[in-house]
Amino acid sequence: MDNSIQTLINQRFPVLDKGFVELQDMMGDDLAIVNAARVSFLGESKGPERDKKLLFYLMQHRHTSPFEMVEFKFRVRAPLVVWWQWVRHRTWHMNAQSGRYTPFEEEDFYLPAVWRQQARDNKQASEGELYTPDSDKLTVLLEEHYTRGYALYQQALAAGVAREQARLFLPGFSVYYTWVTKVDAHNLLHFLRLRMADDAQWEIRQYAQTIYQKVVKTALPWTAEAFETFILKSDS
Ligand SMILES: Cc1cc2nc3c(=O)[nH]c(=O)nc-3n(C[C@H](O)[C@H](O)[C@H](O)COP(=O)(O)OP(=O)(O)OC[C@H]3O[C@@H](n4cnc5c(N)ncnc54)[C@H](O)[C@@H]3O)c2cc1C
Repeated sequence: MDNSIQTLINQRFPVLDKGFVELQDMMGDDLAIVNAARVSFLGESKGPERDKKLLFYLMQHRHTSPFEMVEFKFRVRAPLVVWWQWVRHRTWHMNAQSGRYTPFEEEDFYLPAVWRQQARDNKQASEGELYTPDSDKLTVLLEEHYTRGYALYQQALAAGVAREQARLFLPGFSVYYTWVTKVDAHNLLHFLRLRMADDAQWEIRQYAQTIYQKVVKTALPWTAEAFETFILKSDS
């Protein structure tokens, strides 16, 4: 494994107020993609210039299977609102924390730094910061909601209710969850294309951007350059 990839392993990149992305393991690099493609002619590397050119050709013409030769394993901590969007990507392998085994802690809730306005031209999206005298009040209300929900959860546990049921008292979308997940480079880029886009929810965009900027661009520099040239630019 290349040194620049080795330094990424086990690094924890903070996301949102209490979340993170950590690269736990990785298999392969840009050259692994090139070498997988060259198996068609039973060949391997032909030097950096021709190798990079071939990788760009693969990306441009959507020869995707060589990109599946590279794999990433992440540990992610994110609010459930992000988890529900992430698990729609069926090509990721997931193992998640269980609220049936592990009780939640008082600080396990996402508190946004700012409130965003409802987007005018996209029913799903947000746009810009909400500036009203009520913004700070909303944050206080949310904190109170978390405190109340957590107190009820504790009360239910103390009364002997099972953890799997007591968690019904917790504010659902904002609870932080931790999971381990594995994906190949082709499907990771597909996820990043969708979840870094402006129409994706701001919170999941922060995770996608962190993975792209901190991990993919260092671990697969040719792939990242080709992805920006042939995929992201054609979307914009
Ligand atoms: C901005 C945005 C808004 C969204 N809004 C909603 C919404 O309102 N409601 C909602 O339900 N979802 C919504 N989604 C989720 C979306 O519909 C997809 O489920 C999600 O983005 C996963 O995409 P995918 O299927 O391409 O990815 P993956 O599941 O990772 O699959 C990757 C690719 O593999 C292929 N594939 C994988 N599994 C199969 C299969 N079983 N059969 C055939 N082909 C397969 C497909 O080509 C697919 O594109 C939204 C997504 C985004 C980005």
